[in-house]
Amino acid sequence: MQTIDSANIETGHVPIGRFAPSPTGRMHLGNVAAALISWLSVKSRHGRWIVRMEDLDAGRSRQEYAEAIVDDLGWLGLEPDSGGLDPQYRQSSRHALYEEALGKLRSFGLVYPCMCTRAELHAVGAPHASDGRVIYGGRCRPAGFPAVVPEPADLPHALRLYVPGGVRTVRDMVFGPYRADLAADFGDFVLRRADGAWAYQLAVVVDDADMGVDEVVRGADLLSSALPQNYICELLGYREPVYGHIPVLCNSAGRRLSKRDGDASMEHLRAVCTAEEIIGRLAFLYGLRPDAAPVAAAELAMDFSWHNIPAKECICL
Ligand code: GLU
Repeated sequence: MQTIDSANIETGHVPIGRFAPSPTGRMHLGNVAAALISWLSVKSRHGRWIVRMEDLDAGRSRQEYAEAIVDDLGWLGLEPDSGGLDPQYRQSSRHALYEEALGKLRSFGLVYPCMCTRAELHAVGAPHASDGRVIYGGRCRPAGFPAVVPEPADLPHALRLYVPGGVRTVRDMVFGPYRADLAADFGDFVLRRADGAWAYQLAVVVDDADMGVDEVVRGADLLSSALPQNYICELLGYREPVYGHIPVLCNSAGRRLSKRDGDASMEHLRAVCTAEEIIGRLAFLYGLRPDAAPVAAAELAMDFSWHNIPAKECICL
């Protein structure tokens, strides 16, 4: 596959990292932490950093948020080498690539249409032990695989991917080997929803491969997603990226920061702090500095090490 960012690199391997925000609001400190650590990891090795807008949720994504994210990153000293507002790096303009990948998975006989309604999914599926996610009960699943099941032209249907049983492992730079049984923990998952929207799991894998991404850095809430992504990667014959899942930031009530935590939003922080103060605070929280003294991102890149990032699910502010 042609990779946008590796195409012009003639000699040596330049590590490529990425930050993949959803432009559904202004960034909060937790988003900035993921951007900073992904930037530091590649910049400490003279790599390239991509910012990709994950705007598949058309109802919630807005151009003004994409612009604010890019502006905030520049203000923080985290300039992307590619992407940002470039339309080529927006998921909403990359449907043809997802279609091509789906076509391959279909040709392997691993994709089938699912006509279940939300109510049926809940009635038949088994809630996952740890977080209550519903594991698909298999109502539309063919009896065996590979299978070619015609897709009904006149009935809305999602497309699901067959998932085999057995433990899979991915390597994470913070949490070490992460193992789980994809069938028990995810079941056959959706690649394209009944309304035609592409599923995050497919889009992210296709994009990371197409952009030549070596390192996927994001919040630890997405650690379990590395397994279905690793499975899709393997099926499509892509090189698997290395993962770095960092602790998510929680508010004083112990809940993961959200766009509603106004005090931690870039809109508020930019009004009351300097970029160096924000970076210094994050560097302290994530074990990169012994204190929260203001520091520029570029200064941290000199001695960045993954060993300093704590293997915790969350860090409270
Ligand atoms: N778009 C996702 C988010 O904003 C991140 C997905 C990823 O990094 O793989 O939470």
